[in-house]
Amino acid sequence: MAVGVLALQGSFNEHIACLRKLGVDAVEVRKPEQLAGLSGLIIPGGESTTMAKLAEKNKLFPALREFGRSGKPIWGTCAGLIFLADRASGVKAGGQELLGGLDCSVHRNFFGSQLNSFEVELPVPALASQEGGSTTCRAVFIRAPAIFDVGPSVDVLAEYPLAPGQAVEEGGSKKKVIVAVKQNNMLATAFHPELTSDLRWHSFFLKMVSNGEKGARVPGAEGIVA
Ligand code: GLN
Repeated sequence: MAVGVLALQGSFNEHIACLRKLGVDAVEVRKPEQLAGLSGLIIPGGESTTMAKLAEKNKLFPALREFGRSGKPIWGTCAGLIFLADRASGVKAGGQELLGGLDCSVHRNFFGSQLNSFEVELPVPALASQEGGSTTCRAVFIRAPAIFDVGPSVDVLAEYPLAPGQAVEEGGSKKKVIVAVKQNNMLATAFHPELTSDLRWHSFFLKMVSNGEKGARVPGAEGIVA
């Protein structure tokens, strides 16, 4: 089983290291033809505008959309989440192309700049079913986006309760935002599991890949209301 990591920019090396620790054949993807034969794909964190420009330059959009439509699992972390979203706000003037497919509205820099980056122990019930798993994970938010709302076929896996004044962008009156979701074959996190030593998110994704996940809902996720 080979899993690709979009290697245009951002934290692709860290994802590759996590996959290799789990014994998976990890492949760097920069061109459309490199998607052939892959069972899943990770889109890393980085800078989504730059990533979109490079994907456009490398003519990757049609092949990536086809990959997603075929039902093969795709996991976007941070900038990767923005890339997968159907709707994004807070984007640079002139906009940026989104891959889309994930029925959610995301704010690109909801938590502010690099200075507003933070780490938190985040409750994630879906990870508790992993072998030896605890119900929380260490979540690293770097210039992080947040999800404002999701469509009916999206499972909310984690929410983050906002501290007063923490949301420096539009939507500052919100009490909480969504930071991890799953919709059929798509998984997305606003934070960076690849920057921690906890491999449970990668194992979670690999389970989707080995199941050839197309439409299963996450047991228990319906208990979390966005
Ligand atoms: N907010 C960033 C963007 O627009 C993403 C940050 C990250 O991936 N750490 O792309």
